[in-house]
Amino acid sequence: METKKSIAIIGGGAAALMFACNIDTRKYNVTIYERNNTVGRKLLVAGNGGFNLTHSEDIEQFVLRYSPSMFLEKPIHSFTSKDLQQWLKGIGINTYVGTSKRIFPIKGIKPIEVLDAILNVLRQKNVNIKTQHLWSGWNMKKELCFIKQKEIVNIKADITVFALGGSSWKITGSDGSWAPYFEEAGIKTLPFQASNCAVKINWGKEFINRVEGKVIKNISIKIDGKEKKGELVITKFGLEGGAIYSLIEPIRMQLDEFERAKVFVDLKPELTTTEIKNKIENRGNKSLQKVLENSLKFNDSKILLLKTILTKEEYTNAVILSRMIKSLPMQITSLAPIDEAISTVGGIARDEVDENFQLKKMPDNFCIGEMLDWDAPTGGYLLQACFSMGYCLSKKLNQ
Ligand SMILES: Cc1cc2nc3c(=O)[nH]c(=O)nc-3n(C[C@H](O)[C@H](O)[C@H](O)COP(=O)(O)OP(=O)(O)OC[C@H]3O[C@@H](n4cnc5c(N)ncnc54)[C@H](O)[C@@H]3O)c2cc1C
Repeated sequence: METKKSIAIIGGGAAALMFACNIDTRKYNVTIYERNNTVGRKLLVAGNGGFNLTHSEDIEQFVLRYSPSMFLEKPIHSFTSKDLQQWLKGIGINTYVGTSKRIFPIKGIKPIEVLDAILNVLRQKNVNIKTQHLWSGWNMKKELCFIKQKEIVNIKADITVFALGGSSWKITGSDGSWAPYFEEAGIKTLPFQASNCAVKINWGKEFINRVEGKVIKNISIKIDGKEKKGELVITKFGLEGGAIYSLIEPIRMQLDEFERAKVFVDLKPELTTTEIKNKIENRGNKSLQKVLENSLKFNDSKILLLKTILTKEEYTNAVILSRMIKSLPMQITSLAPIDEAISTVGGIARDEVDENFQLKKMPDNFCIGEMLDWDAPTGGYLLQACFSMGYCLSKKLNQ
């Protein structure tokens, strides 16, 4: 009988677990090596406050959410959000599409139950899980080196799948400290940077005391020809929310170049500047405040935002005010600290891997998940990409 090849999976997050659940264990001896005491810690963190597993949007649109979309086109098409839902159903996790078109486990299913269902598959397939194994590079014999409770353990594997995650929420184990090992081996890595994170705005003290935590709904944000509709949350640090998260890439590019970034917020996307100006000018004996509240349906926060950013003269001039309502400039001075970001970009450079995520300079070594340099907004796109990469690689190796 032919002896089975061994596969070492390093890291026990979303991408690794999906790979391990679908790799053929009749063909391979499979072991997951994870630095923590348990696998899937970031998966559980992601599940806090809504476990957004994927998104129900049309596949053509779905692929365009990734940056660069070409990099993930193949896995996303091969294992779509529908396939993921079907797969989850097969392991006992039913899902539903929320009003935002995002997909979650049905009400009552906790994130830990999703993880348990996955671990149950791994048990049935005899996948070994070795926890407290911190991967720390290769030795002279090209074996994998792990630190296990201060001891060095060297392991030889026929195939290695790295799924080490990005570099935020270090408490979950994903700290990017593996990057220098790849650099030493001649594999290019890019510095980690925050994505899907808050942006810093220097609000005045008086303003923030009045509006901290307020949500500004029904707006659209523009920067460098890109636009995103949604809502903003005003925080002491600056701004948060889906709309700003989606524009982190152009914001980061401006910050890199000018150390400042400027976004323009449209506070009334459904009206033109002229329509707004006409409402303000033709208000008769109504106060400006009343027009903003009643005709434009602005709440306190929107009005206060205008009053904070504009001078009194600008605020009381119908032409300037209507223009500013459509394009209110906001200056961003930095991104949130990387550890607070939902995801990171950077890590293994994309051109270091082939279309199956195999390291070109190290055949039989693969990298999947957030450890590769790609980006996506929140909305389930991050997990879907990790799951799709894990699934597709398993199918490739099963052939
Ligand atoms: C607060 C928060 C909320 C989120 N919410 C969502 C959401 O709702 N929807 C969504 O799509 N995405 C969400 N994400 C993002 C998503 O969780 C990640 O993109 C995804 O988990 C990345 O999966 P991964 O397998 O690439 O890496 P990870 O899940 O980060 O797993 C990497 C694993 O590798 C281990 N590891 C690292 N270094 C070593 C080493 N040297 N040796 C051994 N093991 C190591 C780590 O301990 C970790 O277990 C959220 C993230 C955060 C932080």
